[in-house]
Amino acid sequence: MEENLRSGEIQGIFDNLRDCVSGPAGKAVGVTGELILGIDLGTTHSAVGAVESGFPILLADEEGRRIMPSAVWFGADGSVEAGRKALRRRSVEPGRVVTSVKRLMGRRHGEEREFCVPMERAADGGVTVLGRSPEEVSAEILKELKRIAEMRLERPAGKAVITVPAYFNDAQRAATKRAGELAGLEVVRILSEPTAAALAYGLDKLGDRSRVAVYDLGGGTFDLSVLEMQDGVFQVLATRGDTRLGGDDLDAALARHCAADFDTLDDAAKIRLTAEAERVKCALSERESETFRAPFYDGSRSLEVEVSRGDLEALAKPLIARSLTCCRQALSDAGIAAAELDAVVLVGGSTRIPAVRAAVAELFGREPDLSQHPDEAVALGATIQAGVLGGSLRKMVLLDVTPLSLGVETFGGLMNVIIPRNTTIPCKAGEMFTNAASGQASMRVRVLQGEREMARDNWELGNFEVPFEPMPKGQARVGVQFRIDENGILEVLARDVKTGRDTVVEIRNAAVDVDDAAVEKMVGESVEYAFDDMAERIFTEAKLKAEELLPAVDQALAMAAGLVSEDERREIGDAAEAVREALAAGLPNPLKAAVQRLDKATETLAAALVERAMEEALERRG
Ligand code: ADP
Ligand code: MG
Repeated sequence: MEENLRSGEIQGIFDNLRDCVSGPAGKAVGVTGELILGIDLGTTHSAVGAVESGFPILLADEEGRRIMPSAVWFGADGSVEAGRKALRRRSVEPGRVVTSVKRLMGRRHGEEREFCVPMERAADGGVTVLGRSPEEVSAEILKELKRIAEMRLERPAGKAVITVPAYFNDAQRAATKRAGELAGLEVVRILSEPTAAALAYGLDKLGDRSRVAVYDLGGGTFDLSVLEMQDGVFQVLATRGDTRLGGDDLDAALARHCAADFDTLDDAAKIRLTAEAERVKCALSERESETFRAPFYDGSRSLEVEVSRGDLEALAKPLIARSLTCCRQALSDAGIAAAELDAVVLVGGSTRIPAVRAAVAELFGREPDLSQHPDEAVALGATIQAGVLGGSLRKMVLLDVTPLSLGVETFGGLMNVIIPRNTTIPCKAGEMFTNAASGQASMRVRVLQGEREMARDNWELGNFEVPFEPMPKGQARVGVQFRIDENGILEVLARDVKTGRDTVVEIRNAAVDVDDAAVEKMVGESVEYAFDDMAERIFTEAKLKAEELLPAVDQALAMAAGLVSEDERREIGDAAEAVREALAAGLPNPLKAAVQRLDKATETLAAALVERAMEEALERRG
């Protein structure tokens, strides 16, 4: 069986999607899976998408915009607005508008020194702004995205995949998850942003093994991640970034450049100038020069400054240089040279700046890949992942590992692990089993998932009967192979080695569709019961051995007249008795010791029996 996905197979993804929607007369017959939203919760901008009729799409608000500012306005009367409306209120009530709240997610008070509104210390040492935790502020952004999605899709949405920077730690990820829950969204997956971007980029371009760098320069943060995709599995090899580097810094630099008195102005004037600087900056990505206009920016004075692309580039130069330092570090962390990369993907709004593109091209020695929409790639990737998890995108790569071990039950009710937990998928593994009783004609394969030693404490995913040719005990050979494909579907194959006959059973979505809480509980229990579980495994194993040994010993003693001394015969008898007692007492360690003693006591006897059998055989020949 050829397991490696060939690139051709992966290229088929879009064909499959087309298959899904090719209904009569252009009418889409969608694969209806569960609705899960894909959300890019960005520092400056956020976006939401969903898979509709088999296609991942981003959803636009009433104004037709697919990108929403990550801004929240908290009115004095307790009313709240998020998105563009919130940003519009900024010039009037700057102190009531929170932006870049992502910087505070999962942070302790004091960790972030500068913020758009005053930061307060929460009772638990966390930080709050305008009396709200960062999660609560983020939840308002998520609620607005959820509202837009429900308005467009005309049905309620209760689940989401949300992206976070690759460097986000557990606290930051947990805070993001909580924000989702506060917004009424069950967060089924936290996905890292570069992985999402690579997913949007890479669907139709995945080879057997490819490595890409994702250069993400947004509004407030910069990240460079090196990812490896192999057999449909994405792995972040290295990630470096600067949480204080982005387009906002360039806006501030340009505003200062145009208004020499910038630092002496009040907040409202600063905000007006910065907004104009951003407009000019964006225009200069297209044009060679643009006029910076700020009429009555402080109530009386006005500005009109001609800015050339060269002026902006001079201001951008030190910022770009900082990003390049991160790139070199990440490459060195990943242990690969720029030339070994298959692509450099640009995402983030600030990568529209021509000077950024040129600098990246020079450092990596190649033209960067511009196939992705800079503002939308991350949200699109999140949407694709959501579609996969929801089952509305089929035949897709799943970026995953097995959350729990998979195995089968063996003699005595033990769990026999075949694919350990945290194995990246797709994967396969197998093991050989034999018959427990002579003449047995079939064996039941119980497929289990979990971390416990005893089969009964794990979850049974399914079971089936494998027929094989009756053989003396221990001589039948049944190979059991587990294979998890890129869709997370577990296929169990059992083969009677003698006849080559296969029994194949498919278990859908068992491998990956376990919710986090259940995984945590299972892993927690396996630790909690580790001691008991181990004792039970030792006992069961020793018991199986004893049950095999005792009748064999009785039989051997009957045949062994004259082969062993009286002392040896007595020791064998005593040892066998000790085994029976320990079995009756049900104590694991004494039983194990007794079985070992019996094994040892019968060594001479066994050797003598073998010798005699050989002599007899030779005599017959002679
Ligand atoms: P984030 O992921 O941090 O939310 P985005 O990826 O949405 O950020 O990028 C936002 C940044 O991109 C802003 O600083 C914005 O000014 C900048 N930007 C957007 N369009 C352009 C453009 N045409 N030229 C230069 N910068 C741009
Ligand atoms: Mg972003």
